Amino acid sequence: MTETAAAEPFVLDNSYARLPGEFHARAMPTAVAAARLLRVNRPLAEQLGLDVQALESPAGVDILAGNRVPKGAEPLAMAYAGHQFGNFSPVLGDGRAVLLGEMTDRNGVRRDIQLKGAGPTPFSSRGDGRAALGPVIREYVVSEGMAALGIPTTRALAMVATGESVRRRRAEPGGVLTRVAASHVRVGTFEYFYRQGHNEAVRALADYVIERHYPHVADADNPYHALLEEVAAHTADLIAQWLLVGFIHGVMNTDNVSIAGETIDYGPCAFMDSYNPATVYSSIDHGGRYAYNRQPGIGQWNLARFAECLLPLLDEDQEKAVEQAQAVLERYVERFETTYHDGLAAKIGLEERREGDADLAYDLLKRMTEQGADFTLTFRHLSDLGRAADDRDDNVRALFDDPSGFDGWAVRWRERLADETRDDAERRAAMRAVNPAYIPRNHRIQQAIDAAEAGDYQPLDDLLTVVANPYDDHPELAEYARPPKPEEVVERTFCGT
Ligand code: AMP
Ligand code: MG
Repeated sequence: MTETAAAEPFVLDNSYARLPGEFHARAMPTAVAAARLLRVNRPLAEQLGLDVQALESPAGVDILAGNRVPKGAEPLAMAYAGHQFGNFSPVLGDGRAVLLGEMTDRNGVRRDIQLKGAGPTPFSSRGDGRAALGPVIREYVVSEGMAALGIPTTRALAMVATGESVRRRRAEPGGVLTRVAASHVRVGTFEYFYRQGHNEAVRALADYVIERHYPHVADADNPYHALLEEVAAHTADLIAQWLLVGFIHGVMNTDNVSIAGETIDYGPCAFMDSYNPATVYSSIDHGGRYAYNRQPGIGQWNLARFAECLLPLLDEDQEKAVEQAQAVLERYVERFETTYHDGLAAKIGLEERREGDADLAYDLLKRMTEQGADFTLTFRHLSDLGRAADDRDDNVRALFDDPSGFDGWAVRWRERLADETRDDAERRAAMRAVNPAYIPRNHRIQQAIDAAEAGDYQPLDDLLTVVANPYDDHPELAEYARPPKPEEVVERTFCGT
């Protein structure tokens, strides 16, 4: 038999491994009993310039399962700290994720390739270093859904079932997720060094982040100040975008906040069905610290923790440094409001901005809350309405417990539409492009997980089909746009760590 050299699935570099030793710990993935590839994300693989066939070959699956490390990999666990529900933990680190390395995608962007659930690392403490398949599927579906909604996020390249079971609330099948990120540097990574008084490491990390994510700030008068501005602006935009699609992260601890401005660490996250700003899904969020409407404020709190770490770099005079940081935190609020209000205006079909537009949108949200209206469908169906009321209004009215709650608002809305210059067809197309028909609904994710655990992958495939193209109609899968029936509602999501 002749051996043909199969294409190497990955060729990696690892710039993070070249940072000083205290930034990470070497950590090899632990092999699994019986790896089975559940899914490769082909469009993402192509974006990364990967050979899909090689990735799906036995040699590729071995890498995705952690049974073999690819060429150029220097597997490591990153060190970080973090404020968890407000309390500081000085050492967290990757306890169940291994950074294999980085690769440059087709757009020339360096991206991390990480295995989540790859076995214990020096940061695992009492954890098993593994992930249950359910949360792996949840992260895959939700992160791909977020990407398709145009929201910055880490991506899911593949998922593998390990053939092993992990002990959680009950014994569950294990899985490994291959995660792709702009980087895995977190607010907590800065806190890890700052809280040790290790300002040179903070500087080295800031320099690394500037070079990798925000190279243009290197020329600013004070690059660290400019870095803080960038991270604040990206965080403000990100959280505004979450709100505009009804997303609740669930665990916005500082170790789960990406410095690159991506949504990261999908745990007990969820999209809202009926609109209620106080909504909390996470089973571990007892005080509602990370409720839907608290996310913008928490984003600022997390940025304040980041700003603290940079204080020694901002100005020798610490009073001046604090003033600078405070000004950035104030601008965060303005930035958030601008992005959020622009987004709301677009959702109700307004192109030109008038005073009172935000109030008009808030009035709708208030009525939706009072009348239990489904967030996603209200805006989607609103997109189809004309300038004059007709029977299409009933599609929106039906979402309100008391339909007259919508009628009063619709009168105000149509008065305002009269000031718009766009014609109805243009406006409706624009509204449909910002108001998705499909979100990764909680009950559908749960059904997809339950079915997959029983060996049926069709619901998962169907769910991924609609969430990957959320602005299109999928008549054959229209059921996936529907809110849960009372008996289908999922009240709590678990992080499953
Ligand atoms: P998370 O809540 O997933 O953001 O995780 C918080 C911290 O706990 C991080 O340091 C994780 O690496 C660690 N962790 C979570 N689950 C596990 C696990 N199964 N084994 C080891 N460490 C874990
Ligand atoms: Mg985390």
